Amino acid sequence: MPNFKNPSPPADAYCGRFAPSPTGPLHAGSLVAALGSWLDARKNQGKWLLRIEDLDAPRCISGADQEILRQLLACGLTWDEEPTWQSKQQERYKKALERLNQLQIVYPCTCSRQGIANALEARGVITPRNQEMVYPGTCRPHQIGAYNEVERSSTEVAWRLALPPELTIHFEDLVLGKQTQDLNREVGDFVLQRRDGIFTYQLAVVVDDAQQKITHIVRGADLLNNTARQIYLQRVLEYETPNYLHLPLVLDDHGAKLSKQTLASAIHTENAQQALQELRKAARYLGLRNLPDGKETSIAQWLLAATRAWDRKIIFS
Ligand code: GLU
Ligand code: ZN
Repeated sequence: MPNFKNPSPPADAYCGRFAPSPTGPLHAGSLVAALGSWLDARKNQGKWLLRIEDLDAPRCISGADQEILRQLLACGLTWDEEPTWQSKQQERYKKALERLNQLQIVYPCTCSRQGIANALEARGVITPRNQEMVYPGTCRPHQIGAYNEVERSSTEVAWRLALPPELTIHFEDLVLGKQTQDLNREVGDFVLQRRDGIFTYQLAVVVDDAQQKITHIVRGADLLNNTARQIYLQRVLEYETPNYLHLPLVLDDHGAKLSKQTLASAIHTENAQQALQELRKAARYLGLRNLPDGKETSIAQWLLAATRAWDRKIIFS
């Protein structure tokens, strides 16, 4: 009998992910990112992966990863491959950094935060509170060579990426449109490995998104400012640049960004009714309207309706 079914889309047509840091359970803001990326993947018949970004061990809370997995499952946000933990992939980040070393574009830095602040102050640069300092290049050698193994393994130095002089990154966000960042002016040579040996978010996220062949990165707009750095790293590492879509931030009653730092409280998912309530709240942030609101609606039914209703054009509406 002839098979009239549509051929299924190639497996790598769309691959999304949710990449929480286990610094606490999911809160309203992180659920918006989880739901938005899940819906965008489902709407596009894509895969959705879960990656636990637990490299910054001092900030991670033991057990938070398992709690996040439980919360996602309670909300019906299922993933398509075994979840991964960045702490188990150190070798990958080490290799990527070594490649950049061979390209002679990384150098060791011994500056403390205070040292950087002082150097900036001497130049008359004042960094507003809650903004990252632009590294003034204090430790950058005139000529960068490839460092040997002994030099590379020296402790108590951070490793920074040397940016070329003119480096304005342009990209198109799927919702926010054209974005531009002058990396020298706004960021400076940024850190890839910290003084305590921890690989930074910028390096790890780029390595993993490439390794996992992520095609669509849907995440909160609080990360928008990192995207140009990540695109530049993709270029030097010769990775493909995925599509980016940044979602609206959930603000608290005072208009401040919700985060674990501001003690945003965990979402409630102890039973299906609670989980559905949290999903409905998250959906409203995403601009989804007219979803089934009956008491008898199951999470599966609701998610199906939400997937049908999902449309990038309604985000921020
Ligand atoms: N782990 C990051 C966070 O929780 C998100 C990484 C990303 O989506 O690129 O803020
Ligand atoms: Zn330095």
